[in-house]
Formats: sequence, C-alpha cells, structure tokens
Amino acid sequence: MASSSDDEGEEYLFKIVIIGDSAVGKSNLLSRYARNEFNMHSKATIGVEFQTQSLEIDGKEVKAQIWDTAGQERFRAVTSAYYRGAFVALVVYDISRRSTFDSIPRWLDELKTHSDTTVGRMLVGNKCDLENIRDVSVEEGKSLAEEEGLFFMETSALDSTNVKKAFEIVIREIYNNVSRKVL
Ligand code: GDP
Repeated sequence: MASSSDDEGEEYLFKIVIIGDSAVGKSNLLSRYARNEFNMHSKATIGVEFQTQSLEIDGKEVKAQIWDTAGQERFRAVTSAYYRGAFVALVVYDISRRSTFDSIPRWLDELKTHSDTTVGRMLVGNKCDLENIRDVSVEEGKSLAEEEGLFFMETSALDSTNVKKAFEIVIREIYNNVSRKVL
C-alpha cells in the first residue's frame, strides 16, 4: 500500500473491470452505481467506457475507475488493453440464465491470463429481482465463489439490491491490499 508519514490529502486510484457474458447487466450495474440510473434497453454503442467514482476510506479519497466492456464481448474476446492495470474485477452472470453462469470459468481463465492480481475479485449473480425465473441457485453461486476464492454477492441493477455494497466491498478490499498513489 502506498503510505507516507504525511499522508493528508493522499489519493488512490484503482481500475476495476466488469466482465461476463453479454446482457448479464454489466452496464446497468455500473450506471446504477455511478449515476443511480437503470436502462431497460441495451445500449447500441460498442466500445469501452469507464466511469470514475470516489469513496472516502480512512479519511482518504479513493477513486475507482470502473470499466465496462460496452458490448465488445459480443463479437470477440475482450482485448488485453481492457484488463491492463486492473486491480479488481467483478465477474457477472445472470441468475435467470444458466448459460451465463456456465461461462464463468472461461471468464476467470481469461482474467488469469490478462491480470496478475487476485485481489478483490467478486462473483456477482445479477438480476436477483427475477426470483420467479431463477435458473442458478444462491448455493451454486456461493460454492463456485468459494472454490475460486472470490467474494460473492447477488445483486439487482433494477431495484438496486447490493449494487453499492458489491462495488464498495471490492474497492475497500483493494485499498486494504494494493494501492497506487496518484500524485
Ligand atoms: P450488459 O450487456 O452485460 O452490459 O447488460 P446490460 O446492462 O446492457 O443489460 C442487459 C439487459 O438486462 C437490459 O435489458 C437491462 O435492462 C437488463 N437488466 C440489467 N440488469 C438487470 C437487473 O438487475 N434485473 C433485471 N430484471 N434486468 C436487468
């Protein structure tokens, strides 16, 4: 962790990436967290986007630069530039679509290939508001997360359940482990 005897005004910046199959809700998790917005329709634009969010931890400003694939996974593997410098990843599936859960090992492999840190990874089962059409149980999510050493949380970008909590857990975790000082 970056430290200094005179650390007043110290700032930290972490890059966070959100990965997972198309339409699991990655963009909406980000827009819910960063702007408290939700969109029923997927965005038409393709390209990587990020939002910066600040969080105060121990009286210090911790900034999270959160990247969304913005659809590139629909056409090909996410490029290595997307992962570059990332400390944290939210690996997302849709609890109402089993195929997106089955893809998680592939996303974790890709993450291992492109990123050398294991700090702060979280498995996120999104769309937990869709309980009536649930296709992946909470226990399955939890047990995969335990096997892989990931945090686990079910979220809903639609009704806001656990969205702030999920991001803040990983941001705090990374702050407590690895940090990069921003001058
Ligand atoms: P991405 O491709 O992974 O970025 O997914 P999007 O954020 O574009 O969302 C894909 C679709 O799922 C959109 O129609 C969203 O409105 C919907 N969606 C996203 N999050 C949720 C959620 O938590 N609950 C429900 N019911 N729908 C969601």
